[in-house]
Amino acid sequence: MAATEAGSLCAMCKNLGTQSCTDCREIRYCSQACQKSDWPVHELLCKALKDFGHEKRPGPNFKRAIYFPVAGPKPHFIWLRISDDAVVDLSTVPEDTTDMTLAFAVTNNRVLHRVLDTTLAFVAKMIQLRPKSATASPEPNRSLTTVDEEFLRFWGGPALVFGFKDEDGQKRRGCDLGPMDFRHAVDHFRALYYKGQSRRIEHIEGDKVKGVRLNCLGDTDICQRPQFEGLDVSAAACTWPTEVKSSLTENIDIPLVIKKLPPALVWRDRRLQHSTSHNHKIGHLNPDSKDYAVTIPDAPSQDQADAWMFVYEYHTEITDIGSVIVVRKDGKPLYPSHLAAIADYFAAIGHCSMTVCTNHEQLTTAAKEEFLTSGSEEEFKEYYVAWTQLNLESEGDSGGIRSPYDV
Ligand SMILES: [Zn+2]
Ligand SMILES: [Zn+2]
Repeated sequence: MAATEAGSLCAMCKNLGTQSCTDCREIRYCSQACQKSDWPVHELLCKALKDFGHEKRPGPNFKRAIYFPVAGPKPHFIWLRISDDAVVDLSTVPEDTTDMTLAFAVTNNRVLHRVLDTTLAFVAKMIQLRPKSATASPEPNRSLTTVDEEFLRFWGGPALVFGFKDEDGQKRRGCDLGPMDFRHAVDHFRALYYKGQSRRIEHIEGDKVKGVRLNCLGDTDICQRPQFEGLDVSAAACTWPTEVKSSLTENIDIPLVIKKLPPALVWRDRRLQHSTSHNHKIGHLNPDSKDYAVTIPDAPSQDQADAWMFVYEYHTEITDIGSVIVVRKDGKPLYPSHLAAIADYFAAIGHCSMTVCTNHEQLTTAAKEEFLTSGSEEEFKEYYVAWTQLNLESEGDSGGIRSPYDV
């Protein structure tokens, strides 16, 4: 995408930004829904912009930057002196800057997969990535908690974001930042936070075992992770209490431990276009949750196949579980293809058991009962052979080609 186009896009999604904020006029959205979901963040700087107009600039080398004071209460604009040689004068920052060492430049928004018009330079410290550092941890940054409370123990010390543009492809010059840049900066803080958190959860001490991360829609669509992601998990995970029930997997003698992961922060305040579902596949493993016994809307004219399909799909639609880590209770390796085949197997059984139903009541009771006792080791063994032939040709997942009963 050409850099010049970025400014005309919605701050929250990939659509064209056809409307702008009526207060500051400096941020664009495609719709009211996108504007509304951005408001808690945009609100922090929207009205402050008028006090930082061009006429208030202290001198020609002063550029509008975004500052996050340690003690809060919230981020605000400052005038930061940036010389013609692109040297930043930290004495123009209102707080003690001795701690402000870590800087990184960001040229794209990883959440939106968008090249930015302005290069964003960050001066910010992560606390948790260096727990054993010899120097004392910086004080938690409280103004970042107005963006997200979970940032409190992650970002420390004062933080600063300022902007650069490459002129004529040669010279770097400081430039003013506005509300749109603030949104990109927030996305970046959030992306780094999420990456740090995931790393901590997947960190292993002691023995390890092969497990699978079953990713939710945000992780697959926005973070570009595979739906079934193989990974090493601490062997201790096999004795964890399972947080998402899946008694079906006991029917095929592959009992699983399923543990929830924290929500993907990079996308949770975003509107996903096609669905509100967070994790389609987990629904197939978890039909015995309370959500399964949903009330079916009165639709006597629908044929049973449609009705059952509706119950089944509706169930998976409302599964608000997010990404999970899955391991086998017996400590044997679980490969992505094993879990994908198990989910498909029970989805197929779910779609078939509608044939036992003759009315709506049966749909919610008899069919469910039938379903919960369905599946067997013998039948799944056979299913897995057929499934691998259909699905694994291109996947290159050699571990998965072995039967889950033969690992
Ligand atoms: Zn505004
Ligand atoms: Zn939008």
